[in-house]
Amino acid sequence: MISKSQLLVTWAGLLISAWPLDMVVESFVQRLPPKSLLRATDTVVHGLIGGFSYLMACIICPDLVLHIFRCLPFLRFGSGTNKHEALDTLFSFCVAFMISCCVDLDHIIMDVMQIKRMPFQRGWFHLSLFPLGLTIIFYLSALPFHSQYCVISATLSILCILSHHIRDGVHHGLDFYPFGTTPVLPYWLYIILTLTLPISSSYLSSSLIRQLKPSLDSLTQSSMHMV
Ligand SMILES: [Zn+2]
Repeated sequence: MISKSQLLVTWAGLLISAWPLDMVVESFVQRLPPKSLLRATDTVVHGLIGGFSYLMACIICPDLVLHIFRCLPFLRFGSGTNKHEALDTLFSFCVAFMISCCVDLDHIIMDVMQIKRMPFQRGWFHLSLFPLGLTIIFYLSALPFHSQYCVISATLSILCILSHHIRDGVHHGLDFYPFGTTPVLPYWLYIILTLTLPISSSYLSSSLIRQLKPSLDSLTQSSMHMV
């Protein structure tokens, strides 16, 4: 059962990050010198968009929630998993936030390695063909490999990496190297894509997980019998 109030609050967070906050940060960043550390505020907006998008996906499809003690077992304390729902939700938000921000690491790597860039040349992490291909491979692998992690990885790839590229696409278009670059995305299209991607991707993910559930349940039961 989807909590409508949670979904509405998260969607409002996504809308505020993608639109008013984006406009404020854009005008602020443009007035800064090229190497200013304050330019990282633009990356923070990417992180918030990725975090809220994945949070929305988790509300629509709770199977996408990342469990902190399964990912980081050395942090385990206490017992029972239901107690840690809020922590898992925060962890899911933080992981998506970090992945969205990490896409901008290529700017830092290129600056540190002093690689000269052509005007409008994108960094390696800003090329869209690889994450798009990866998303399709993860979705196609989920059923044959009976893996929920493939669905989670595909959803993270869409909502953190591709949504980052879509926001940057307002300035440069999407770079599908070696096939070329799309025209610059209109601002309204960026907003619509950003607000609808979490809904469409999470419904796709939940329908895949629903098909996976019988095989996952039988795998769990057979491993219990073996014990
Ligand atoms: Zn970027």
